[in-house]
Amino acid sequence: MPGGSVLSDITGQLHAGPALWRTFHEICDLGPRFSGTPSEAAMADYLERYLRGAGLADVRRWEFGYTGWRCTRCELSHPGAPPGWEFRLMPLVYSAATPPGGVELETADLGRGTAEDFRRAGHAVPGRAAIVDAEYSFSVNSLHRRRKFLPAVERGAAAFLLVNARPGRFPVTGSTSATGSPIPAVGLSREDGMLLRRLGGKVHLDVRVETAPARAANLIASLPGRGGGRKVVLSAHYDGHDCGESALDNATGCAAALEIARHLAARRGRFANDLEVHFYTAEEWGLQGSRAYVNALSEQEVAGIALNLNLDVVAGSSKFTFLCNGFADLADWVRGALADEPARWEVSEWVANNSDHANYVARGVPAVRILAGLDENESNCGFHLSPADTSDKVRRADLTAAAGAAARVLLKALEAEGPVARTRTKGEAERLMPHYGFAPPPVE
Ligand SMILES: [Zn+2]
Repeated sequence: MPGGSVLSDITGQLHAGPALWRTFHEICDLGPRFSGTPSEAAMADYLERYLRGAGLADVRRWEFGYTGWRCTRCELSHPGAPPGWEFRLMPLVYSAATPPGGVELETADLGRGTAEDFRRAGHAVPGRAAIVDAEYSFSVNSLHRRRKFLPAVERGAAAFLLVNARPGRFPVTGSTSATGSPIPAVGLSREDGMLLRRLGGKVHLDVRVETAPARAANLIASLPGRGGGRKVVLSAHYDGHDCGESALDNATGCAAALEIARHLAARRGRFANDLEVHFYTAEEWGLQGSRAYVNALSEQEVAGIALNLNLDVVAGSSKFTFLCNGFADLADWVRGALADEPARWEVSEWVANNSDHANYVARGVPAVRILAGLDENESNCGFHLSPADTSDKVRRADLTAAAGAAARVLLKALEAEGPVARTRTKGEAERLMPHYGFAPPPVE
């Protein structure tokens, strides 16, 4: 089998060579790559240089417009806090500002913050700062932040205070919604949140933000196949949140995608299908970079995509999952592709509307996300979306294993003469994404 030698060549280099681990750290050293900052621009330059240097074809920037946002002040205080206590906050992306000088708000403890919690709290919500728990992002039993934020807004909360699930006195962050937030929304440390819950009463919240029309660029590169085939899209988002190194999320996925692409670059014209490597930005702002790109594709272009393989938080635990988003035939195909792979992987048919692959799924394209730490609530993956998302949370062997498995599935897709899974109709695709976060696969 011709693919066998290519694969052993690539996995051999991923395992034995220093490049994957070095690339991962080079990306971390650029800073957290928050959209609209010099760190994001430096990463775009890094990607362009890297892809050109690797010899990939047609390296280009795919520009799009979005609403830029930055926070210039984010402070909270409570008169009952112990002397010297420092609240450690981070704004959620697109948080609204408070009135100048800040605002005094009564707090309301909504516990987990489900829609039912908000309904039950009734009149205790309007005009108050709702305190809710953040949950481990990568569990099928967790409730996504947005499914707490939206009820808070709907029920008239004046502010949204999200409490980190992890102890350690560092805040959690995330986004509010891609269309913006009508209320101030901030993440708190576990300890700050528990203190506010115990004290009750009023907080003083001061959030200042600036918004302006902005532009950003996805980075794209190609590896043409023999001609007449379909397209396989390997993707990873290169932006992060404005803290730590955004190492787990998503220097891991970027480093793996770059190294796989580099090893394949010399094989131009060799595979049945064409490869495109996409690095999206503003993913942390509600998947905006990939949405702009995927929504601009014609029906014909969509039909020509065999697979999107999306790498996002691929290390941080020794176990990683191929999330197949309700495509049962795709899950079977992935299981087949991984038959000879060392057993660190799992295949899940759950639908996960939580990274760029979701925009492909929404148009019916077979799409897989590789994700580490699924349902391992205590894994290091839980440090993402926080200042503790730093390179020490990633083990080299875990990143290497995930990159090797990704290369195996990618090669299989590049060599596939027919479809790897059926492209879904518009109606089927719409039913796949009922809400944010995880959903069980629909019955086909
Ligand atoms: Zn991510």
